[in-house]
Amino acid sequence: MLRPTYIDNLPNNLVDLYSQAETDIIIDIARRLTTYDFFIPSAEHQFRKLQDMGLLYDEILKKLTATTGIAKEQLESLIKEAGAETLKHDDSIYRKAGKTPTPLDSNPAMQLTLAAGIKKTNSLFENLTRTTANTATKQFENALDRIYMQITSGAFDYNSSIRMVVKDLASKGVATVQYSSGHIDYMEVAVRRATVTGVNQTAAKLQEARADEMGSDLVETTAHAGARPEHQLWQGKIFSRSGKHPKYPDFVSSTGYGTGEGLCGWNCRHNFFPYFEGISEPAYNKAELEEMNAKNYTYNGQAMTEYEATQRQRHIERQIRKWKREYAGMEAVGMPTDESISKISAWQRTQKDFIKQTGLKRQTEREQIPEFGKSQAGKVSASIKNSASKSGKGSIIDNNKVGLKDNADQNFEKAFNKAVDHGKKTGNECLLWLDANGMEVVKVATGNKDSVAINQETIDYLMSAKENTVISLHNHPKSSAFSPEDINIACHFKAVKEMRVIGHDGTKYYLEIGEGDRPSMNEIRKEYEEAKNKTHDKYYKIFIETGDTAATWKEHSNEINEAIAKKFKWNYRREIE
Ligand SMILES: [Zn+2]
Repeated sequence: MLRPTYIDNLPNNLVDLYSQAETDIIIDIARRLTTYDFFIPSAEHQFRKLQDMGLLYDEILKKLTATTGIAKEQLESLIKEAGAETLKHDDSIYRKAGKTPTPLDSNPAMQLTLAAGIKKTNSLFENLTRTTANTATKQFENALDRIYMQITSGAFDYNSSIRMVVKDLASKGVATVQYSSGHIDYMEVAVRRATVTGVNQTAAKLQEARADEMGSDLVETTAHAGARPEHQLWQGKIFSRSGKHPKYPDFVSSTGYGTGEGLCGWNCRHNFFPYFEGISEPAYNKAELEEMNAKNYTYNGQAMTEYEATQRQRHIERQIRKWKREYAGMEAVGMPTDESISKISAWQRTQKDFIKQTGLKRQTEREQIPEFGKSQAGKVSASIKNSASKSGKGSIIDNNKVGLKDNADQNFEKAFNKAVDHGKKTGNECLLWLDANGMEVVKVATGNKDSVAINQETIDYLMSAKENTVISLHNHPKSSAFSPEDINIACHFKAVKEMRVIGHDGTKYYLEIGEGDRPSMNEIRKEYEEAKNKTHDKYYKIFIETGDTAATWKEHSNEINEAIAKKFKWNYRREIE
């Protein structure tokens, strides 16, 4: 069984990932609008428009294919984790009923089910790539036509027209599917649906296979607040899979399981689990259903259920993304960005306040590959800094290549210095990507105080680079060892040969995954937390004695890194200056 909130949070990272691609597409369209010659006869406009549409289509396809490549890796681990999670729960019920389920790893039929589910979910995303390339190109065509009409009819001047069209485009986002009814789905909705549907259906197939194996007939459906009315009819109730039970109704015909509209269908957050008469108690008794609808969250004096609160949180996140798109679009056409900058920070303040008041965490913080989620923010703040530096304040470091050929040691020393210099100047992290000679291979990325932004360009580069060819180097202002996010990058991208960190006190850290294990972000986090807890008392004592947080954490983080490197067979070392 998968809990509704578990299913609800599945797509968050993928939404962030595709949102980055969406912004890039908006920038691409906006730039093409500014280079287009609108002062041409109508026939020529038709001709040029088709040419430009073809070029854009290819670009979008390329961009989204790269994004989908990353998405597929994330999806595979989401599906595997969800499969393990759902069976963990169901199997504990079977054991209570005196049955002995075989482990997932040694069950070939279930492995096949899992593989089929991964394949099917991947194809949902490949579909998304194709339909988005079509609909986004159509949006571009509409934009060109609208501006052409407005200018030639004299309704608006060139600048006002471009501004209006880009604003509108950024506000709506990139269309991913257009139905024959005329209804349009935008990026977030489509990514959420494809993720939830793909993962939940695969989990359900595994559960069915398990129920068959156990010869188990009865199931109970989960329930959640805010379910659509048709699903409220059957949530939290018991059904018979065979349909032959005298007391309980038929599972498939009652819930629509297996259809798009039914249980585990499009966007459905419901799931089910085995039920044994005389052993199980119905999980959703009256009190629990009431608890689900309890208004336990308060925001600005307004009481909300958990569901209402997460919906509000989503709304805030959408506003932030929307204004970031507008910022990117306006910047691409060289128009004022003041409004979007002030909206972004206003909504970010709202988000902070909302999290503080409700205690709800921003989900992406504790999920799979947070750097992807942060990359957009990193990019925007980098460009904000960039425009600030033009007016003389703020700073962005240059993107010049450092170093000389065939002088690797000296080049790495220079790179270390560059990262530290930037860090000391700004207090932020600075990430460099180097080849074996210490030469920079992609532009420098800057991050915030505690994390590093990895932008789309870097991701694209790492996805296409050969294995073991890139060295990742960045600074840690507090001179601590690798964070779980750092380690995840080293594990996730096989192109990364070694990860290096330099502390502002000159301490150097080295991590090589090599032939060692490459666990998922969740596993890394889990091991990291475990190692941290194991040594907590020791370092807490040191901290009480010294009162020095930074020095204590430096040693503590080093010991954590040593422990997990040993466990996963990595090469980790540090050099103290
Ligand atoms: Zn449902």
